[in-house]
Amino acid sequence: MVITLRNIVKAYDNKKESGRAVDGLDLEIKKGEFVALLGPSGCGKTTTLMMLAGLLKPTSGEIYFGGKLVNHVEPKDRNIGMVFQSYALYPHMTVRDNIAFPLRERKMPKAQAYERAKDMSRIVQIDHLLDRKPAQLSGGQQQRVAMARALAKDPDILLLDEPMSNLDARLKLDVRDEIRKLQRELGVTTIIVTHDQEEALAISDRVAILNGGKIQQYGPPHELFGEPANLFVASFLGNPPMNLIEGLIMEDNGVQAVVTSGFSLPIPDARRLEGSHAGKAVRLGIRPHDLRLTDASDPQGIAMKVDLVEHLGSGKLVKAVDPAMKLGGMIRLLADNEARVQAGDTIYMRVRDDKFHVFDAA
Ligand code: ADP
Ligand code: MG
Repeated sequence: MVITLRNIVKAYDNKKESGRAVDGLDLEIKKGEFVALLGPSGCGKTTTLMMLAGLLKPTSGEIYFGGKLVNHVEPKDRNIGMVFQSYALYPHMTVRDNIAFPLRERKMPKAQAYERAKDMSRIVQIDHLLDRKPAQLSGGQQQRVAMARALAKDPDILLLDEPMSNLDARLKLDVRDEIRKLQRELGVTTIIVTHDQEEALAISDRVAILNGGKIQQYGPPHELFGEPANLFVASFLGNPPMNLIEGLIMEDNGVQAVVTSGFSLPIPDARRLEGSHAGKAVRLGIRPHDLRLTDASDPQGIAMKVDLVEHLGSGKLVKAVDPAMKLGGMIRLLADNEARVQAGDTIYMRVRDDKFHVFDAA
């Protein structure tokens, strides 16, 4: 079932133009797809999910499930499974009754609902806990109960709101894999809300990046990372974050270059900006792993002074400033563990294979 959101607006306070939690959102999710809504706190992720569930009504715009307008369809008639950030388990009920609850609501006979609850509990590996109450479970086990309950009625759509935010870092990785595997097996169209970019990129077919109630970019993870559409996406995605340096476009004999106060980079012909942009203010974006160390004899080497070296385990994060302090702040470079570099050193860096981005200055 294809899900389509068309020009969705949600204003909690109907009067205020500025108070739009969701502000003209267009999104299409294919059948069986796993999509993440990713963005900073308050950008409208949960609000969007609640509108999909039918628990909130859009102020304007349309929601379609498989071509059918569902704006006025009640939550219980949408065949949706939902896992809330808090899990929202019924504390006075056993695990068995929690999982069976949505089935009982649909008037499924008790024995049959319990049978189904048992099957679901096996799938998420909690069948030994069916007689317990939520308070007698660990966070990870509660999370599994919430998943089993959401999947029990064989939903067309699975909605997950920060389902792993209450799990510790190690468990999160395991649960992440399990959710993805389960989703693949069942083929259920799934939308996950998260503020964790690593989680979103790892688990999803496509990611929608939201800011201020608007979609900034929607695409597969490698595309968002490799070709960020704007400065927000560029600065939001990536850890350590992309270097963003103020610059100007200059043109000489038809050759364009980005000129910063410390160095300049010619723009390859294939990526030429259309038309004349001479004098245009831009931001030059370079990911830390797209800068590498070189030596003083390299004509393209940019001299820098090391301020700080952080050990990341997988490599060293070098934070450096240009000697004249003109670039405005620290430049981050990712070096191998073997690299001999320490605070106070003068280093030379260069950009790998034209791996840089040029954005309109905000
Ligand atoms: P996210 O899930 O991305 O953190 P939300 O969708 O919860 O963001 O919130 C989006 C915006 O709407 C925020 O500015 C938040 O303060 C506001 N908001 C959320 N719920 C309500 C509500 N019930 N009443 C008024 N404003 C709300
Ligand atoms: Mg939220």
